[in-house]
Amino acid sequence: AKEKGRNRYCVFDQTMHKEALKTLLIQTDLKKALIKEEFILYYQPIISLSTQELIGFEALVRWNHPQEGLIPPIEFISLAEETGLIIDLGNWVFFEACRQAQVWKKQYEKAASLKISINLSGHQINEVNLVENIDRICNLTQLDPKFIRMEITENILIKNHQIINDLFQQIKERKIQICIDDFGTGYSSLSYLHNFELDILKIDKSFIQRNLNELKTIKILKTIIDVAYNFGMDVVAEGIETEQQSKILQDLGCKLGQGYFFGHPLNAKIFEKTWFETEQA
Ligand code: C2E
Ligand code: CA
Ligand code: CA
Ligand code: CA
Repeated sequence: AKEKGRNRYCVFDQTMHKEALKTLLIQTDLKKALIKEEFILYYQPIISLSTQELIGFEALVRWNHPQEGLIPPIEFISLAEETGLIIDLGNWVFFEACRQAQVWKKQYEKAASLKISINLSGHQINEVNLVENIDRICNLTQLDPKFIRMEITENILIKNHQIINDLFQQIKERKIQICIDDFGTGYSSLSYLHNFELDILKIDKSFIQRNLNELKTIKILKTIIDVAYNFGMDVVAEGIETEQQSKILQDLGCKLGQGYFFGHPLNAKIFEKTWFETEQA
């Protein structure tokens, strides 16, 4: 038994070692990745549930690592936050998403009124130059800020109310919309609605992917949707993977949706082919 225990420990130790090494590798590479232009944005459609029309798209970052291939954000965003790189990376994402949106608006009539949703980390929200950077990027890309939707998660709102409300005021003056992402997963979601003026509520995909045959699930979804509309917000249901989910959310009064059922995140070239250059789109 002792022997077994030691072996198990040994295996565990080696796995740990490998993981630690990989993290270390990614950490050193991450710093160079921006300069080497290894980050890439994918775009996922956001659609009207009733007409299936495209109303906007969300920019989702990936890291095109020369050895590891395409690395999803879950594997490097928190690392970028710990190292402080998230500020530069976040600015790059913001710039690139606005640049691409403006290119599409000029090139395709179908893109003229579309919104671009951009994810922001809490570290960016706390950055003193955030508004300056946004102004600079809008000037550079010539994108009208009214097309921008900033997606933030609830945990950002735990911080200092006054500072965040001042920031939101400046953002609103620019007609940029604020979307609360992953709604319902935080500690006191309702108090955030009370304390902050938000434009869009995105229901977390974990709610969509519960058993929709259960009355409880339906009641929760209905409640979230009603609360949002009572506060004058738009609602997006994320993580819609099936027609049934889409139908139910529409029946519950939700107007907007996002998920694999409508379209996966795609790189810019494939996104424009799929969504701007084909008839059904
Ligand atoms: P998120 O903002 O909640 O983005 C939605 C995630 O759900 C994306 O994962 C998307 O690919 C995935 N998704 C979309 N439709 C479906 C579906 O029908 N089913 C399922 N199971 N998943 C779906 P992704 O691209 O891996 O991004 C993960 C998270 O990384 C994002 O979650 C966001 O929190 C963060 N992230 C992505 N891009 C950025 C960025 O540019 N900046 C920051 N700060 N965070 C980002
Ligand atoms: Ca998001
Ligand atoms: Ca989300
Ligand atoms: Ca999320």
